[in-house]
Amino acid sequence: MATRNGSKRQLAWVFDLNKCIGCQTCSVACKVLWTQEEKGAEHEWWMTVNTAPGRGTPKDWEGMGGGYEGGKLKLGHKPTAEEFGSGWTYNYDEVLRGGHGRSKHLEKVSGSKSWGMNWDEDEGGGEFPNAYFFYLPRLCNHCTDPPCVESCPTTALFKEEGSGLVLRNEDECQGNERCAQACPYKKIYFNEARGISQHCIGCFPRLEQGVAPACVRQCPGRAAFVGFLDDEGSSVHKLVEKWKVALPLHPEFGTKPNVYYVPPLSPAPLREDGSFDEGGARIPPSYLEELFGAKVHGALDVVRTELEKKRRGQDSELMDALILYRWKDALGHLDRDPGEIVWS
Ligand code: SF4
Repeated sequence: MATRNGSKRQLAWVFDLNKCIGCQTCSVACKVLWTQEEKGAEHEWWMTVNTAPGRGTPKDWEGMGGGYEGGKLKLGHKPTAEEFGSGWTYNYDEVLRGGHGRSKHLEKVSGSKSWGMNWDEDEGGGEFPNAYFFYLPRLCNHCTDPPCVESCPTTALFKEEGSGLVLRNEDECQGNERCAQACPYKKIYFNEARGISQHCIGCFPRLEQGVAPACVRQCPGRAAFVGFLDDEGSSVHKLVEKWKVALPLHPEFGTKPNVYYVPPLSPAPLREDGSFDEGGARIPPSYLEELFGAKVHGALDVVRTELEKKRRGQDSELMDALILYRWKDALGHLDRDPGEIVWS
């Protein structure tokens, strides 16, 4: 399968929002691997888990613009380090290593005072007793039609032919940040110290060795899947193409994103008398439609029907895939143990 942009295959992610527990293990695995040690990348969290509904990271990203309108590239706002929450640092040396543990307490010594990567965690929406929230993991969508690539004045950003990942050649980046304006998901960061843009590269060096991206491999909730969209044996193919229960976020941005989500089921809301309204949904269906488009209702119907089958003791291939009895089934062809490899 050749994609419109010339890539031969497309790697994709699926996150099951019924299983994501918001533990941030994926975010930290990514941070430790890619941006922890790099000067200028303190505010960069290529993988983030935000609470939905919420303002997200960067703050209010959904209204910042970018993507395509009527097939035409549309530049939007370029998020600032402050809007990302900037890089928080603490006085660890003084308190933990400097012998002042009894007289000083831990405090933030740099970073935004009004925002952070998961600042509005667990706030959510709705009114008591029918408040609701769920977690929304986000990384670069490695879009099939990536406006970041189209907006780049050099060939620094490109679609890698064999995987469909959006990669970058840092030597060619001129740091003009048009990519950050063009990306409607606001997943491009600017490294002031190096004068270049940076973003998730899908753990490409791991992929080359047959190892899954860190965010997927480290997920303790078994909520993350990775694989080629056209690999009929992969869970990603089955969830996206066969059962059509995994949907992209904000498809109206026009970029054909390749990170997909199994939408969250909703608990029954409580009536004033304290009884459950079994026919209702605590998460407003209109909100889910805002995020995932009109197909979300059909996807949820399929998940509910299969869940009922499983509860009645009947077989459900879909539920078995989502329960993920064998963890390695989440990794597609990328099931090699990174511990086997000598990384140079
Ligand atoms: Fe580019 Fe943003 Fe799409 Fe990633 S999510 S490919 S950075 S437009």
